[in-house]
Amino acid sequence: MSLIVQKYGGSSVSDAESIKRVAKRIVETRKAGNEVVVAVSAMGDTTDELLDLAHEVTPVPDPRELDMLLTTGERISMALLAMAIKSMGVEARSYTGSQAGMITDARHGSARIVDVTPVRLREALDDGAIVIVAGFQGFNRDSRDITTLGRGGSDTTAVALAAALGADVCEIYTDVDGVFTADPRVVPRAHKIDSITSEEMLELAAAGAKVLYIRAVEYARRHGVVLHVRSSFNNNEGTWVTADRVPSIPEGTAMEEPIITGVAGDLNEAKITVVGVPDVPGKAADIFAIVARTGANIDMIVQNVSAAATGLTDISFTLPKGEGEMVLTALRVDQPDVGFVALQYDDQIGKLAVVGAGMRTSAGVSAQLFRCLSDAGINIEMISTSEIRISVVTRADTLHEAMRVVHTAFGLDSDDAAIVHGGTGR
Ligand code: ADP
Ligand code: ASP
Ligand code: MG
Repeated sequence: MSLIVQKYGGSSVSDAESIKRVAKRIVETRKAGNEVVVAVSAMGDTTDELLDLAHEVTPVPDPRELDMLLTTGERISMALLAMAIKSMGVEARSYTGSQAGMITDARHGSARIVDVTPVRLREALDDGAIVIVAGFQGFNRDSRDITTLGRGGSDTTAVALAAALGADVCEIYTDVDGVFTADPRVVPRAHKIDSITSEEMLELAAAGAKVLYIRAVEYARRHGVVLHVRSSFNNNEGTWVTADRVPSIPEGTAMEEPIITGVAGDLNEAKITVVGVPDVPGKAADIFAIVARTGANIDMIVQNVSAAATGLTDISFTLPKGEGEMVLTALRVDQPDVGFVALQYDDQIGKLAVVGAGMRTSAGVSAQLFRCLSDAGINIEMISTSEIRISVVTRADTLHEAMRVVHTAFGLDSDDAAIVHGGTGR
């Protein structure tokens, strides 16, 4: 008997009809002779709506209470899904994150899983029941409080359950047919990728492809969990995310893998520029020590050559918009000690990344990327590279156009428009 973990995202359980449809799928999987554990997200845009509501009550909601609030979204869908399955005459039991043994650290809003003790789930499976677990949430043993795993965290719940229970596969059900070469809502000519390495998937997720949450990909890679991302709206084969690329081309065929696997975009970042930093050893260390103390997630860093006349340089970096104010405040406090001239904040940026393992062995990818952006009249403000990724910062309002022209320039366009089955893209 196989053990299958299935995760259904909010777009797959947005109303009563969808819950019944998903319940049917789950029952079919059980009846085919598998043990089934399901991680479920909150219905539709519930999490966003709860967040909006909290911010209507107070501009800065208390983190503990915010987690209490947000975890209710997943409790609603888990109970409804279990009811729907039971009404079909099949045994099902729902569990909150803490009941399921999802033990996390104490960081509200972005807790990390430290242990999974799925004792009750194993018992339920042994009783022949289908297990439904509320995604995105856990429990901290020291504070004895409920935590959430960060936006998109139900993916991590599913992967952690698959690892702890030794599942044969972890299926991530969503509103598109798999991982595409770009977000199909932005690039209609994007095409589905049959198989992708976890290394490339990590880079795409880090660059804003929210079809999979980065921490879930990391967790899957560390624990050897095989992921299958697919649509809950049809039975098509989706995208396999595995340690190594599964060859899609028969051996001996003289065809090369594409240099670029995908394009991703992110509108949730902002840029801080520290203007007029004395160009002497230790200043960058001082600045980023201050930033590090805030716990902010820094991405790109660029330092300009100092103007010879002044001996001053500018340092720019990007970070999530939500962390901008916190970092600016921390830098302002220490401005007299570090001795920089001013701070600039820009939240109208877009970040575009092209990702592909093929970059390791081909020259000229950067040149081709910069050329096609310039041909489209799109200005590049920052550049950074890793072994298999090139990222650039553009104006926010040019990002989507940039993604389309880059997708075309690297020969990724498909003949048919991609289908998005549901969801609002929020
Ligand atoms: P779910 O509700 O299932 O968690 P999400 O909204 O989190 O769904 O993720 C699915 C969405 O991710 C798709 O509808 C699509 O708009 C977006 N997306 C972004 N990049 C990609 C990509 N490269 N491939 C597929 N989908 C992507
Ligand atoms: N409901 C949570 C969110 O919207 C978790 C998830 O869906 O993965 O971020
Ligand atoms: Mg998601």
